[in-house]
Amino acid sequence: MTDSAYDLVVIGGGPGGYVAAIRAAQLGMKVACVEKRAALGGTCLNVGCIPSKALLRSSELYAEARHGLDDHGVKLGSVKLDLAAMMARKDKVVSDLTTGIAFLFKKNKVDHIAGTGAIEPTSESTGEGANAVTVTGADGSTTRLDAKNILIATGSESTPLPGVDVDEKQIVSSTGALALPKVPKHMVVIGGGYIGLEMASVWGRLGAKITCVEFLDRITPGMDGEVSKNFQRILKKQGMTFKLGTKVTAAKKSRTGVTLTVEPANGGKAEQIKCDVVLVAVGRRPYTDGLGLDAIGVNTDERGVIQIDGGFQTNVPGVYAIGDCVPGPMLAHKAEDEGVVCAEIIAGQSGHINYDAIPGIVYTWPEVASVGKTEEQLTDSGVTYKAGKFPFTANSRARASGHTDGFVKILADAASDAVLGAHIIGPDAGSLIHEIVTIMEFGGSAEDIARICHGHPTFNEAVKEAALAVDGRPIHM
Ligand code: FAD
Ligand code: NAD
Repeated sequence: MTDSAYDLVVIGGGPGGYVAAIRAAQLGMKVACVEKRAALGGTCLNVGCIPSKALLRSSELYAEARHGLDDHGVKLGSVKLDLAAMMARKDKVVSDLTTGIAFLFKKNKVDHIAGTGAIEPTSESTGEGANAVTVTGADGSTTRLDAKNILIATGSESTPLPGVDVDEKQIVSSTGALALPKVPKHMVVIGGGYIGLEMASVWGRLGAKITCVEFLDRITPGMDGEVSKNFQRILKKQGMTFKLGTKVTAAKKSRTGVTLTVEPANGGKAEQIKCDVVLVAVGRRPYTDGLGLDAIGVNTDERGVIQIDGGFQTNVPGVYAIGDCVPGPMLAHKAEDEGVVCAEIIAGQSGHINYDAIPGIVYTWPEVASVGKTEEQLTDSGVTYKAGKFPFTANSRARASGHTDGFVKILADAASDAVLGAHIIGPDAGSLIHEIVTIMEFGGSAEDIARICHGHPTFNEAVKEAALAVDGRPIHM
């Protein structure tokens, strides 16, 4: 290993990789980050979290201007959609943020190496160990980076659905759904999860008829069942149609649209759905193509998920992995926190992540947010718990705002009162959940939340009331 070797070469410049690179540089390491995409920021900034939230906000304003302001006594003339301007705004939000990361790299002296990284085995004969990354640039040139440590942060890609091939025009993945040139008349969304429901909200608000085809008998299957049911009811009220327990068996494209053949998941009579755009959103899978994992012998499971120990190290010494390509929820904040902790561990410090307190948020309207265990998980694991629930109809701020759909539910251990989980559907649920995340991080109880003075009138008071309800003593219900 030469003196010019990097202390850490990170492969992948998404939320996991770029954050790890910056933290490692803060800790005094010499760091390079290899990224094959034209801009830094990974899936999240380029084709994920950020563009989807930009479109969710713009489409929410459009829908509100069209239908939502009359009650408030605000009368508008005819409201027009300028989709090109909406898309241009989204693109600017993305480019401002991705160039911001390039600036942060400069500020922290992280070398940004453009190109595709592959890990070289130390010993070609045995394939053991790894201490170099070869980077192939867009022009085919190669650069070798000596590395004392290598961090794989290559993220994930959309899971394909056999027989429904994505062309990013008529049959799109989330990437195509973020850049449609016109509002579809009828959009079929395959998969009632995070991506399906967020993108269905965007295009539904802009005027598309939405049909969501979900294989299981409920949407957002990992979430608390009561929340999922309520969520579906609210989305139905907004105009979405759901075909649950249904599978797509074929897709036939024509010049004018796509005809999908669907049938009950357990078998039965097939039917056809005609639409102009299909979004395939049936999950994501780790992306590790071309990294050379086999050559250095990194263990993955049958789904390609890289196996790591408690310190994010793979079975190959000096090779670490974080983010969407390792086990756990595929969320940007999880990837970022793993990036920080992994860099600290490589620097000889200790760090930990509480995987029981990672929030998950669906940024629809209303938002849906959850942390910790669901009622189903607690029941299945035999934990005795108390549930406290408070509806937004009884919250004065929700009434004043006209956003009364949904509720806060807090689950606490029956004996110790420790908060084990919380599930919120309602206005600003994604912000409200963090109060409970904080309580859980500090090992707090429902009584702790109930005794904290909450500002009035706020949506947060619904969290306090749900905590009081755990002990059967809500005030406003
Ligand atoms: P990624 O962000 O995927 O970054 C990996 C990077 O590695 C990519 O830029 C890729 O080009 C690069 N790369 C891969 N292989 C190589 C190689 N060999 N050499 C060089 N570079 C390579 N999560 C949230 O928490 N909140 C949200 O609101 C949210 N919304 C989303 C919306 C959509 C439409 C999608 C698709 C995802 C969303 N996610 C959201 C998930 C989030 O984007 C991911 O969890 C997050 O990006 C994972 O970060 P990562 O660093 O592990 O991987
Ligand atoms: P998902 O796992 O959230 O949802 C996929 C859905 O597709 C599930 O309901 C599943 O039952 C269903 N499904 C699977 N196979 C099917 C089939 N053959 N036919 C019909 N339905 C089928 O996955 P996603 O929506 O693709 O999103 C991928 C990941 O990206 C998410 O798990 C999440 O981690 C991340 N993400 C997060 C956010 C956010 O944090 N707001 C937003 C978008 C994406």
